[in-house]
Amino acid sequence: MAEKQANNYKKGLTLVFTGEGKGKTTAAFGLALRAFGRRFRVLILQFIKGGRDSGELYALQKLSEISETTDNFGYIEIRQLGEGFTKKGSKTEDEHKKAAINALNQAMKEVTSGNWDMVILDEILYAAKFGLLSEDDIFSLIDRKTENIHLVLTGRNASEAIINKADLVSDIKCVKHPFENGIAAQAGIEF
Ligand code: ATP
Ligand code: MG
Repeated sequence: MAEKQANNYKKGLTLVFTGEGKGKTTAAFGLALRAFGRRFRVLILQFIKGGRDSGELYALQKLSEISETTDNFGYIEIRQLGEGFTKKGSKTEDEHKKAAINALNQAMKEVTSGNWDMVILDEILYAAKFGLLSEDDIFSLIDRKTENIHLVLTGRNASEAIINKADLVSDIKCVKHPFENGIAAQAGIEF
C-alpha cells in the first residue's frame, strides 16, 4: 500500500475559528473531511470537551474503516482528551488542568512528528481562556509546528495576539441561536 501523505500543498497554515456564534468545531471538522478527501493524515485533539456520543465520532469510525481499504483517502484520528465543561460537572480545577496539560504535551509532540498533514486542536482557545493553559503555550505550538502542516485552533475568545499570529482567522458571529428560544440541542446539529 502506498503511503498516505498529502503532497499537493506548499505552505502549512495556522487557522483560527473563533467567536460567539455556532460553527467553530464544525468548521474544523469540515476541513478535516476536505483534507481526508485529499489524502491528508489528520489528527484532531479535543481539549475541554468529550462529546463521546456525537455524530462526528460515528462518522469518523466509518471513515477510518474506509481508510484502511484504499490509498485514495487519508485518515483522521481523533483523541478526546478533555474532562468536560469546566464550569459545571464534578471534575476539579486540578483535574481539568492536568487534562489540558496532557493534551498540550501531545500536541507539542505531534506537530513536530512528521506523522500529520493537519492537526486540529479543538477548544484549545477555550482552555487558554479558562487559564488551563497559557497563551505562551499556544505560541510555542505555532512556532514549533513543522512548516508543512496545517494547524487549526478553535474556541471562543481568541486573543489579539493569537489573531495576529495566525494566517487565517474567522470570527463567527451569533446572529440567532435556537437556545435563546428554549430549544434544546438537536442531534445532527449540535452533537
Ligand atoms: P459547533 O460544535 O456546533 O460547531 P461551536 O464549536 O462553534 O459549535 P462551542 O463554543 O464549542 O461552539 O459550543 C458548543 C455548543 O454550544 C454547540 O453545541 C453550539 O450549538 C452551542 N452554542 C454555540 N454558540 C452558541 C450560542 N451563541 N448560544 C447558545 N449555544 C451556543
Ligand atoms: Mg466548539
